[in-house]
Amino acid sequence: AVRGTPGSRNVPATRYADVGGMEDTIALVREAVELPITHPEIFKRLKIRPHKGILFYGPPGTGKTLLARAVAHESGAHFIAVSGPEILNKFWGQSEAKLRSIFAEAKAKSPSIILFDEIDSFASSRDMMSESFEATLVSQLLSLMDGMSDLGRVCVIATTNRPEALDPALRRPGRFDHEIEIGLPDRNARHHILKIHTRGMPLADDLDLEAVAALTRDYSGADLEALCREAALVCMRRSLNLQDYTRRFSSHQLAALSITAYDF
Ligand code: ATP
Repeated sequence: AVRGTPGSRNVPATRYADVGGMEDTIALVREAVELPITHPEIFKRLKIRPHKGILFYGPPGTGKTLLARAVAHESGAHFIAVSGPEILNKFWGQSEAKLRSIFAEAKAKSPSIILFDEIDSFASSRDMMSESFEATLVSQLLSLMDGMSDLGRVCVIATTNRPEALDPALRRPGRFDHEIEIGLPDRNARHHILKIHTRGMPLADDLDLEAVAALTRDYSGADLEALCREAALVCMRRSLNLQDYTRRFSSHQLAALSITAYDF
């Protein structure tokens, strides 16, 4: 969901309240991304340079993209999401022009946040690809970042599951020089995420979400969202006498997350 009309600024609708179990991470991100946008004068007064680029790293489905959208919303920033694989494949032959136009748009509509999702898809270590097309793209990205002058008004966030595979040049000062780890949620965090994803669902009176959190060790936020959805589908199939074919989650987990809606 996007606020505004096409051609105008694109501010995502996601809020911090939609991001579960990441209070400490949200605090880091507010300071690194939101504050330079909303209170540039503080940074000027203290003579500290806001970060140009921030790397979110951690396993898939842990809310990296979600958090980037949320900080854009809370800062009122224009949000441009770029998928690494897409820039490489869909814009093949025009990737460099596309990169330039992304930075130009960010500047024109600032404050802005550019998100490079899965940056490792085109910015893994250049030694491995020598003179390849990807190497050219990385150089171009670096030179665009080096040329950014409106510090704090435009912030670039990149996400990766494999920080160690990234071209080291990307992680130098003045580039992606601030790294924030986004790991798998612990039990309390899972409880919080489950609350978010069952918001508004007709839950059984005796439902114990803490017990579900305990049963879902090693689940990412995306897995928990899928579990909530699946539990609701099980409820629907039961109500409509449809066959239940799902095998993704254990019956134990699904039974624990009991959703009752026999009245639709
Ligand atoms: P990838 O590395 O695969 O791109 P990601 O870390 O960017 O994954 P997201 O795309 O942000 O993960 O998460 C996918 C979905 O999972 C989100 O849209 C959201 O619905 C749910 N989700 C993930 N983490 C959380 C969280 N901490 N709180 C609430 N929902 C979450």
